[in-house]
Amino acid sequence: MSFETWIGTDINEATSWLQKGELVAIPTETVYGLAGNALDEKAAVKIFDTKDRPLYNPLIVHVANADQASSLVQEWDEEVQALMDAFWPGPMTLLLDRSPAVPDLVCAGLDRVALRMPDHDLTLALIEQCGFPLAAPSANLFGRISPTTAGHVFGQLDHLIPYILDGGPCRVGVESTILGRENSRWKIYRAGGITQSELEPIIGYTEAINASDRPAAPGMLPWHYAPRTPLALNHPPRNSGDRIGWLRFSSLSPVVPGERQFVLAPDGDLHTAARRLYAGLHELDALGLDFLVAEPVPDSGIGRAINDRLKRAAAVRPE
Ligand code: AMP
Ligand code: MG
Repeated sequence: MSFETWIGTDINEATSWLQKGELVAIPTETVYGLAGNALDEKAAVKIFDTKDRPLYNPLIVHVANADQASSLVQEWDEEVQALMDAFWPGPMTLLLDRSPAVPDLVCAGLDRVALRMPDHDLTLALIEQCGFPLAAPSANLFGRISPTTAGHVFGQLDHLIPYILDGGPCRVGVESTILGRENSRWKIYRAGGITQSELEPIIGYTEAINASDRPAAPGMLPWHYAPRTPLALNHPPRNSGDRIGWLRFSSLSPVVPGERQFVLAPDGDLHTAARRLYAGLHELDALGLDFLVAEPVPDSGIGRAINDRLKRAAAVRPE
């Protein structure tokens, strides 16, 4: 189906499309999401089709209040409650045993559902007004760069969805941290907006699982978030051509003619780098250069999430 895609701030318009079972792009503090009614399997099918996302890659369900969360999962204990109290609304996704209310497709047939409460007033108001939770992966085509502005979404999903709810540029800029328990021990499945050191006062030492160690884990694909221009870490490979775009952490370096640079954080702050990461990749990618080279950022705090995305953007994708 082809739509004329509108961008606006009208929650009523967004609600009415969602209530009809259609998809709407929504702002969150992490990245823009491609949202549909999480309780409607047909809407979930549309999400997978629109993004061209493989069905084995489950969706995160976004809630606006504790009642919605509890309708989607089995009971939770005090530790889970403490995490919710500390980090919701915010960039933390919890994997919890699901209730039968959640369609199989949303969870890719797994026993757990991924839940989070996004920290964005427009989207929280939208979810309240819809009265149902929203399943929402990032609002980009599968494997491509995540969107952090309504314009980025439009660039990839024009004609594919009827409405983009514009909530401005995303405040955090990288996806949520995903965590869950295995045999009563917490594991971080994806580094993201909440750092390991922020989590540890509540759940103690946690193991961060390197996605590529467990390629069978849904969605932890080693290649992801990729620009169309080939990208390498640190150095350009041989024969990469002359027209190179550099993604730098905090300062410009001398370049030769034909090269371009984007500095993620002129202030040297990793949060600035996270906020500008996808915008930088979008901007360099749009220049039609021969090759992009990303300089890894300091690997601490939210820098880990940034380096994780850069590594996956640089990974070779199987055909
Ligand atoms: P995103 O592509 O940013 O929407 O993130 C979705 C990711 O969350 C997936 O690729 C999985 O890694 C993870 N995820 C979502 N739902 C589940 C689930 N039910 N069980 C395990 N991992 C999940
Ligand atoms: Mg994504």
